[in-house]
Amino acid sequence: MNKSRNKQRKPWIDAAFISMIALLSISLIFLSHSTKSNAKQTTTDNRKPPEISKEESTKESAFPGILIKSEVSNDEYSPYSIQYPQSKVESFNAQIKKYIDEQLGTYLIAMQENKRVGSKTPGELNISFEIFPHTSGSYSFVMITGTYIGGANGYTSFNTIHYHPASGEVIEIDDLFGHEESNLIKLSTLVRDNIKKDPSLKDKVLEDEMLLATEPKWSNFEKFALIEDTLVVYFDEYEIANGAAGAPIIAVPLAELIEQLVAPYKPKVPVDSLHKTPVEAVSGDEDVEEDEESNETEVQVDEQTGNTKKKQVALTFDDGPDPKVTPKILATLAKYDAKATFFMLGSRVEFYPEIAGDVLEAGHELGNHTWTHANLTNMASDAIIEEVSRTNNIIEQSTGSAPTVFRPPYGAFNNDMLNILSLPVVLWDVDTLDWKHRDATQLLASVKSSVHDGSTILMHDIHLSTAQGLESVLAYLTSEGYTFVTVSELD
Ligand code: ZN
Repeated sequence: MNKSRNKQRKPWIDAAFISMIALLSISLIFLSHSTKSNAKQTTTDNRKPPEISKEESTKESAFPGILIKSEVSNDEYSPYSIQYPQSKVESFNAQIKKYIDEQLGTYLIAMQENKRVGSKTPGELNISFEIFPHTSGSYSFVMITGTYIGGANGYTSFNTIHYHPASGEVIEIDDLFGHEESNLIKLSTLVRDNIKKDPSLKDKVLEDEMLLATEPKWSNFEKFALIEDTLVVYFDEYEIANGAAGAPIIAVPLAELIEQLVAPYKPKVPVDSLHKTPVEAVSGDEDVEEDEESNETEVQVDEQTGNTKKKQVALTFDDGPDPKVTPKILATLAKYDAKATFFMLGSRVEFYPEIAGDVLEAGHELGNHTWTHANLTNMASDAIIEEVSRTNNIIEQSTGSAPTVFRPPYGAFNNDMLNILSLPVVLWDVDTLDWKHRDATQLLASVKSSVHDGSTILMHDIHLSTAQGLESVLAYLTSEGYTFVTVSELD
């Protein structure tokens, strides 16, 4: 999520680097033992890892207690850029570090071997991560690794870890389901159903591999994240589908698992405004959501004057500002003279006040999206007021202008909250699911299939793929005669 890094230089040799060297040496010793017997005995010189200088930095994330570590090497042949989270919990840190060390070690050894055989093509290693806070109080960390070590294609893989900041507990998939075998069987069935239903996997599933990789074993589902109202299960490239499918991401609505999930993970409100799966026996209070939403998206036809009105859409971007993605989105919007609305997290505005200022300066509307991306329906009034007013204040302080609209995280709100909030509540009717597919080309497809005059389109200015796909969306909507307005300007 927070992808900016300080350019602060640290001493060339430090603990992390030494441990990397140690790991490399161990791996190289292993390699030299496992190479063919006719290979020449490697000299001590050859066993030295490539001398790669790197920059390291640490900064706080928008999430309390979570630090972001960055390691960047601009080495010509083996460059890499790595970002990973660290917390106060040792087991969590160790698990993350182990993954990073494995990825980096494998990459550097492969590149060293490429160099030895005379390859001139530079490699690439990018590891980034995102944090998804869940209403249960836990965080899902999703690490995304892109590796290129020569040949035709790069390789993308995911790794996930879950952690409850309050208890310090690392959460595994079976914890979500009370370690019940019958629940595992249901999970396996639902994942298979969703693989079959997924349009992006059409004709790409490798049937035997898929059945093996989804058979009811907890370890088959260990790479998961709780994102909004969905259990997202990650698979590696070629694990369940052919190369054309990339690394598949399968989303199972939590509502479909309501009987299997244990208490803190059971969905409380149907949070996704698009898929309003009827959920039985929930705490009530979610009724307003529907009304409010339809008001929000109502198409107003000017029947009295009979004037042909220009078609309008309101583009909205949530969860920013982001130092990498938001500026790209601003540039694309400017190109189409499009105005949009940015629902910002106070905690991120605190980190990137100047980017929040740039958004306002470019003529866009500022919205409040709470401080911590909390599900407000679970909170007491004073806590809600704190979330909202703190965010109002930081936005006004940073940009000189207070936000004019409010969007509750997860689209979740109730009557009681409406009495507390002073700002108009804005939901959406077109959900691009950009956070899920992370695919620039899918952004347009999801807009095309559901946009109409008066639509409010939900996107996130924290995903690079959204910035990359935005231009095609703007070009398409322009060609269809739409103009781009802020949510407050929407008739
Ligand atoms: Zn959000």
